[in-house]
Amino acid sequence: METLETPAAVVTDKTEAIEIGPDDLLPRLKDNGYDVERVGRRRAWVERKTGAELTNVGSASWDSELMRGNIENPIGVAQVPMGVAGPVLVLGQNARGLFYVPMATTEGALIRSYERGMVALTKSSGVQTALLADENQTAPAFFFDDTTQASALAPWLDEHITEIREAVATTTRHGKLVNIKCYQTGRQVIVNFGFRTGDAQGMNMIVRATDAACHWIKDNYPGTRYFLFSGLCGEKRASGFLMTRGKGKRVTAGGLLTNEVLRLYLHTTADQMFRVWQSTVVGNIQAGAIGYTGHAANGLAAIFIATGQDVANVVNSSCAVTVFEPHPAGLYVSVTLPALSVATVGGGTALPTPREALRIMDCVGTGKASKMAEIVAATILGGEVSMGAAIASGEFVGAHERYGRNRPT
Ligand code: NAP
Repeated sequence: METLETPAAVVTDKTEAIEIGPDDLLPRLKDNGYDVERVGRRRAWVERKTGAELTNVGSASWDSELMRGNIENPIGVAQVPMGVAGPVLVLGQNARGLFYVPMATTEGALIRSYERGMVALTKSSGVQTALLADENQTAPAFFFDDTTQASALAPWLDEHITEIREAVATTTRHGKLVNIKCYQTGRQVIVNFGFRTGDAQGMNMIVRATDAACHWIKDNYPGTRYFLFSGLCGEKRASGFLMTRGKGKRVTAGGLLTNEVLRLYLHTTADQMFRVWQSTVVGNIQAGAIGYTGHAANGLAAIFIATGQDVANVVNSSCAVTVFEPHPAGLYVSVTLPALSVATVGGGTALPTPREALRIMDCVGTGKASKMAEIVAATILGGEVSMGAAIASGEFVGAHERYGRNRPT
């Protein structure tokens, strides 16, 4: 029988079998090969195998051993250009003051656009931010012989919440189980476990903790079986569930753009901006979009790359709602992100370049994740404002032509 480790053959789209010999498999290096010499050997192997020269990939400025726990089969680093946007004045619960925000991207015009929106908000009123909820979650599915047995699970879990919390506590110091909610469909019950995760994004933490809880449930509730993932929780997937239930940090940011700033700085008016918002909401409804934003994923991806977040979490984090509302003094703008995944501890945040980038916002380490969430929300609002203004004023294409083209020469 074939195994994943040593496939004997793969089938191409031409349905021709290709034999894979021992020299086609990546070299297995001692201790998984994170030291600079072994990373270099693996890179040289790829160069020989593919003919690609990997000089820049091999030009890391930090010790390759630091990548352990973040990547397998390392051959070097991907260097992404990093810029800075701001300042943005954040008037929040956890972040207060003027902030400059590191963003890594290859999309020309993106950072200039965010900068423009952030400065416009700062010149007007600043951005008020609030962390509305902070709870990451994961949702295993339990299976029963009949619906009656399945229905009995929810009350039984309520009765045994103390023991389940004890099982969780054996796996993590910072992860705190705050609630359990059951969603039954026929003989299947999805059990959504909600956790506080401190300053970590927390998926490793809470999946391990939930597995311990599930083991305890399986051992103590007769006749149940489970799969650790059901697909309900919305990790790295867009879903309507995220919009109401949330995931990670639910954060909101709002501010008033004055008529003067709209006219002089953004070259538009409150009425034009509102019309852009209204018409694009209609377009998004037609598209079946989940939530409504102009381009929140742009800013989220750029900040996530710069600061060592898991970039795939842009999918859930960008399920958000942007609102532009006419106001007697101008335009009130807001963005609410119910499923923002950001961390200042764990994941890629301790790697040297993300750490430096986090330091720009004073968001390194313990006690800083809530602050970072509010700065991110304020930044995303800046991007929403700038994009709306560029569409309203007809400057969108011109800005991209000026900053964002790299035609091959
Ligand atoms: P992690 O790097 O695996 O663990 C971070 C650990 O730091 C925590 O578990 C915690 O230990 C410790 N810690 C120290 N100070 C802390 C503080 N102030 N606040 C919170 N924790 C603190 O990171 P993670 O956040 O759990 O996992 C994030 C990564 O999971 C992402 O980068 C992503 O790549 C990956 N991921 C995993 C899954 C999965 O299913 N396993 C799914 C998606 C993504 P204690 O737990 O002992 O308190």
